[in-house]
Amino acid sequence: MSAAAQSDFFSFLHIDLNSFFASVEQQLHPEYRNRPLAVVPVMTDTTCCIAASYEAKALGIKTGTQVGEAKRICPEIVLIEGNHGEYTEYSNKIAEAVELCCPVAHKPSIDEVVCQLMGRECEPANARRIALDIKQSIYKHAGEALRCSIGMAPNRYLAKIASDMQKPDGLIGLLPSQLPRSIAHLELRDLPGVGARTEKRLNAKGVHTMPQLLALDRTQMHALWNSVWGDRLYHWLRGADTGDDGAPVPSSEIQKSLGHSHVLSPELRNVEGAWAVAHKLLHKAAMRLRMEKFWAGSLSLTMRYALTKQQAGQVKSRQHFSGVNHSGWGMEARFAECQDTLTLLEALRGMWVQRPQGGLFQRPFFVGITLGRLVPESEHQDSLFADPEHRAELSATMDKLNLKYGHTTLHFAGMLPARSSAPTRIAFTQIPVQYGVDYM
Ligand SMILES: [Mg+2]
Repeated sequence: MSAAAQSDFFSFLHIDLNSFFASVEQQLHPEYRNRPLAVVPVMTDTTCCIAASYEAKALGIKTGTQVGEAKRICPEIVLIEGNHGEYTEYSNKIAEAVELCCPVAHKPSIDEVVCQLMGRECEPANARRIALDIKQSIYKHAGEALRCSIGMAPNRYLAKIASDMQKPDGLIGLLPSQLPRSIAHLELRDLPGVGARTEKRLNAKGVHTMPQLLALDRTQMHALWNSVWGDRLYHWLRGADTGDDGAPVPSSEIQKSLGHSHVLSPELRNVEGAWAVAHKLLHKAAMRLRMEKFWAGSLSLTMRYALTKQQAGQVKSRQHFSGVNHSGWGMEARFAECQDTLTLLEALRGMWVQRPQGGLFQRPFFVGITLGRLVPESEHQDSLFADPEHRAELSATMDKLNLKYGHTTLHFAGMLPARSSAPTRIAFTQIPVQYGVDYM
């Protein structure tokens, strides 16, 4: 194996559902499968299609095609008025299906899911197997009409690009050793963040093709965008990650945090429900941390709270892709490196009691936790303080029992209300297969 191939790894999987709205309709209505179909906002010829099935796309009908024009191209096209509620429900089902294979790190939009890999999951063969498992899981648990394209790459930006390179049902990996030449054949417009306006601007400065863009050095890229965005793009396209200042972060640093987040189902959108989910996410992250033999030096908690229309009008708020107006809050705790659930729970509890009170923070709908300042076991420095309560051993025992009997066997009391809520319910039953057979 060459040195380059040995250092090849993937840090992110980007899962993009193909023709999502149209596929959900085909899932709900088997009689529409294998037929040209378009989803429309209202039933009138003057509006545009908001989604097209693969059969419709094959005829040249796509998002943005006028309905009258679509009917002219294909008089027998099935037209369906979109139902956002159904799509949100399927979006959640898909995230749950993904969770069975690998914890979800982000959901950037209704039809995308991002997983962050860690430890041995980053090895290309393992990443590929996780990706194939995800496809199967979506097919089996969310619906057989739902297909996705998965991109594997050393950073999130490239993973998104890779997910777009093969459709439908694609699986593309961009290995660090093959960058940037493996993306040199793309169009400038294939780059996320490069729309019609940016393309025009690049063209005006003499950049028309990817090879021309890739020939520029970092300074030229900065000048081209006249911002740090150019610096970041320069590094991203080469497989590196960057800090906010656009400076590259070495690949060994990329792996320094691990995030898990969850959009709460309606019945859990209260303080108790959010705590139960936060507790469960932490439990899951801590177990994964130990499985992959890492130690964590920080924990951050992110909360988002749904606002009423009236509240949203009064304060600076943002809108989640599901349409929820929200306020947010977050906090980070730092501590001596640890990997046991009890210590991490104490840190979580310490932040939890400091969360803001008041009318704008009553209806939590999103919880995220991130373990940060990760170090691999081989680099872990034992703290000067001993572990008087044998917390590490307790965690190890919990993991063993949970691996053997399913992850809900042993848990801390705070998790109880969320125990039966998907998605992690089945997630851990996968781990014995993933880790137990192949890795241990
Ligand atoms: Mg999509």
